[in-house]
This record gives sequence, C-alpha cells and structure tokens, in this order.
Amino acid sequence: MIAPLRPVIVAANWKMHTTPADAGELARTIAARTREPDVIRVICPPFVCLAAVNAALAGEAVAIGAQNIHHELAGAYTGEVSAPMLAGLATWVIVGHSERRRHAGETDELVGRKLGRAVDGGLRPILCVGEHLHERDAGRATDVVARQLAGALDGHKPDALAAAGLVIAYEPVWAIGTGRNARGVDANAMADVIRITLAERGWEELAGTTPVLYGGSVTSANIGEFVGEPAIDGALVGGASLKPDEMAGIVARAAVTARARLSQIAAS
Ligand code: PEP
Repeated sequence: MIAPLRPVIVAANWKMHTTPADAGELARTIAARTREPDVIRVICPPFVCLAAVNAALAGEAVAIGAQNIHHELAGAYTGEVSAPMLAGLATWVIVGHSERRRHAGETDELVGRKLGRAVDGGLRPILCVGEHLHERDAGRATDVVARQLAGALDGHKPDALAAAGLVIAYEPVWAIGTGRNARGVDANAMADVIRITLAERGWEELAGTTPVLYGGSVTSANIGEFVGEPAIDGALVGGASLKPDEMAGIVARAAVTARARLSQIAAS
C-alpha cells in the first residue's frame, strides 16, 4: 500500500498516575524536552489533572487528551465524564483502551458509541484495538482486531471520522505494561491489517490517511523498531510517558522518521 504523508504522533497515556499538584510540572518538563516541530505530541493525563496540565502547557505545541469519555452526553451516570464536559480541557481522547475493555467491561459496540461522541464533540479520537496473547497464539490476532474495528466503526461515516482526524492505536494486550513489546515487523503487519480492514469497508481514502500508532511497552530503546516501519506512524506510550528522559528519547527518534518522510515527499 502506498503511504500518503501521514503525521508522526507520540501520545502519552498517564493512566491513573499524577495529581493536580504534580501533573503540571511533569507536563512542562516533558514539553520542554520534546520540542520537535515535526512530531505531534499529545499528553493524556487523568481527568482531574487536565486543568493543571492545560495551565502548565499554555503556549506549548502539545495537545491534551482525555483517557476516556462516556457514551452519553449527560445524565444519571455517577462518576462519569462526557465529551461536552471536556470543552476547554482536552482536544483529543482515547477510546477503547484495553484496560477499559478489561476493567470496565467496554464492548466493541460501546467503544463505537464513545467514538461517535468524540467525533460529534470535536475531540480527536485515538481508537485502541489489540489482541490477547491466547488469541495471537491461536492465530486469531487478525480476526480479533478486524472484529474490534468493525464493532467500533459500524454506523460511522468515513468522512466524519476523517474530519475528526481518527487515529488508531494497535496495542496488543500482552504488551501493555508488561515490558514485553511486540516486534516491529509484527506490529507493521497488524497496521496493514487495520488499513486493509478499512479499505474492505470501501473506506480506501481513510485507510491511507489514518495514522496507526503502536502501543505496548514502548521505550526510548525500542521506539526505533516501530517508527522505522512504514505502516506505523508513532506510538501510544504508557509507563515510559511518565519519565521525561524516556519521552525525550522517544520523541527524538520519532522526529527522525517524521523528517525522513517529509524529505521523501519533498524529493518526489
Ligand atoms: C498504554 O497504556 O496504552 C500502554 C501502551 O502502556 P505501556 O506503554 O505501559 O505498555
């Protein structure tokens, strides 16, 4: 598949770490150490830290994302946060993270509804998909990811997803927070599967333009293995995203790929 120029993105998922007292300082430090104009940087802190991170990153070209949204706009949903509530606090949102699928019982259909709320609410969605180890061992990784995509994307219009700037993160569950990353070639093959699945729906243009990130124990030591692959457009980083040294290394390596892509386009 011929790749159009897709942006290179590094998104930080802070999960349930940091407090409003310390999140701003961490965000500021990471922003200062990752100033690479050719890489889109995103930080997704916990909800309660969004205001502090916004204040800390004023004037920095770092986007701020939420880690989740509710599938309804408002209502009797104690403890939940909806897309409209994020106005002024976040411009991106992660949907369908495997930790939410596992711990909060999110189904593909529910993830699809959240995706719709993100699109309607003007939030740029990072849709996470990925198989469990037993599914990969059984040779079902492709089927699982295709099913997750179909479940989340059914009912959506490709134009709306494109306008929202859909990003898909391939995150094999067995690689998340385990220190055991996928191999770059395997992640690249799954990124191809994601694009083929989109193309098979008749969404060829979206297939070509949608950035696909890899996520799962990404560090400054292994990021090159992923962004060196043609189908992978960056990383969704969990544990290492809380460490400024790690983020500096990850974004610096991502920038090498971003610059190489830009010069390839300029030369063609
Ligand atoms: C994640 O939270 O999306 C993630 C990939 O985590 P980690 O980098 O810690 O594996």
